[in-house]
Amino acid sequence: MSSSLKNIWNILTPLDKRKLSVVSILVIFVTIIESIGVVSIMPFLAVLANPESAQQNFLLKKIYVLLGVNTSNQFIVYLGCISLVIVVFSAFLKVIAQYSLNRFSNLQRHYFSSRLLDIYLKQNYSFFIQRNSADLTKIILNDVDQVVWGVLKPLLTVLSYGFIVIAMILILIFYDPLMALTIASVIIAFYMLMFLVVKTFMKRISQEYSKANQERYQSCQEVFGGIKDVMINHAHDYYYERFDRNSRIHARHLAAQESLGQIPLHVMETIGYGCLILLAIFLVLQNHSVGTILPVIGLYGVAAYRMLPAAQNIYRAITTYKFSEHILNGVSHEFELDSNEVKQTIRQEMIKFNYRIELEDVSFAYPNSPEKKILEHINLTIDKNNSLGITGKSGSGKSTLMDIMLGLLQPTSGLLKIDGEVINHSNVQSWQSLVSYVPQFIYLADMTVAENIAFGIAKDQIDFQLVQNAAKLAQIDEFITQNLKDGYNTMIGERGILLSGGQRQRLGIARALYKQPQVIFMDEATSALDTKTEKAVNEAIKSLSGKMTMVIIAHRESAVADCNKLLRL
Ligand code: ADP
Ligand code: MG
Repeated sequence: MSSSLKNIWNILTPLDKRKLSVVSILVIFVTIIESIGVVSIMPFLAVLANPESAQQNFLLKKIYVLLGVNTSNQFIVYLGCISLVIVVFSAFLKVIAQYSLNRFSNLQRHYFSSRLLDIYLKQNYSFFIQRNSADLTKIILNDVDQVVWGVLKPLLTVLSYGFIVIAMILILIFYDPLMALTIASVIIAFYMLMFLVVKTFMKRISQEYSKANQERYQSCQEVFGGIKDVMINHAHDYYYERFDRNSRIHARHLAAQESLGQIPLHVMETIGYGCLILLAIFLVLQNHSVGTILPVIGLYGVAAYRMLPAAQNIYRAITTYKFSEHILNGVSHEFELDSNEVKQTIRQEMIKFNYRIELEDVSFAYPNSPEKKILEHINLTIDKNNSLGITGKSGSGKSTLMDIMLGLLQPTSGLLKIDGEVINHSNVQSWQSLVSYVPQFIYLADMTVAENIAFGIAKDQIDFQLVQNAAKLAQIDEFITQNLKDGYNTMIGERGILLSGGQRQRLGIARALYKQPQVIFMDEATSALDTKTEKAVNEAIKSLSGKMTMVIIAHRESAVADCNKLLRL
């Protein structure tokens, strides 16, 4: 338990910790005021029941003198007002404390997920090829949520109600030590026992719960991501069942978690009720009068009424925490990625590209299959404003080689050099800012055509002239202006669903050109086009040759026939 408590402490920033301390202090302060409110009713009731006590009781006498009152009626009014003021004040404080608590925990959810997204975005490309994107989404949106409701809130609950229980026990000890300790130990022992019973079960369902949740996210993402394949292959049943099964487990375990947190209250209420009746019967059988029985029963009743909800809330918080411990450990593990050596916020050194790109004895194997060498001892040089064509059968490592030249993947051995400068963590971003990349499958966002060409640039900062020039070069301007109803402002649908493969590809080329790169990398960028368009696009590309450095992967040797150099893998 303490090790995962350390986890929550570790993922809080110093500022978060300070806020948590302030909220905790506020919560404790409210508890103290609340207890004073409860106590303040006692002198009022005592004098109300027996006006003589104002003169007999040492403490009351002190207050009597302090208030400077003359009659016991006046004294009762004063005491009542004081008690009322304290109770009202504590209610007011409670509202403030509740608000700061809610604000703190909900903002914490926001800080956690923003920070996590930032940490993920700082990772290397190789991190993303090893992780499932649905899983990352789930951690940012769902697991962080659970850390807040399952860990942070319960901890604050334990803190505040813990103080209430302690305060109540202290008050009761003052009144009747034996009774107070008996009630306290019965309640605590009962809840401890309950907790020991459900602990292991909680742990098991918590693991199944988070596994099912992951499956839920994954099935959704996969089914909608590949809806065409799903429909053609009649895979709906498979995906529906997979989602349905896991969603049911998810719901059932959540229900079990909630119920296990509630059951003891009902048991405890029943026990408490039974005990009160037994006590009354016992006292009656001992021939006590009603006058002496009622106050005793009343006191027991009030004590139970105050302590039970508090004990119950603490118990529920601890079981919820137990249920979420597993998720907390996972999330805190993700936060540890922050300290990895990866990109970090190393200040980028500027890279200049005036002469050549070199690969020196580059070998590469993917981290998940290190024994399978994809590339071995590749040496090559591309001079500025020259072009390199890469061919080879599929699976020969063309795209992998390009990823290395793009600085997305780091060679297992060997070097990538620009003008003799080795590319590493400290300059890779600067290198990437000089290059453009047209992949085999263009990723299009559900935004306007112009926003997709000027990808990643806020709408009001787009250079429209540049967008149009890029589109003209990529042979897509005509289509955009004549066939799309809003021209460059047409929304193109999720992943460009309104466009054909060739149009998407040309948009991708326009995007690459918008960046005005010094080097353009194309990975089978034109293989999806029909011969006529391919020819037109190749003409456009050719018109750039001599003005721009190009690395082109192509299926057909004819597509790279004009390159200055050829590499066959
Ligand atoms: P090409 O572009 O020439 O068709 P790739 O560079 O895409 O080939 O892939 C080369 C080899 O690397 C293939 O055998 C493929 O199985 C393997 N490969 C590609 N991506 C990964 C990856 N993320 N993890 C492990 N192996 C991979
Ligand atoms: Mg490829």
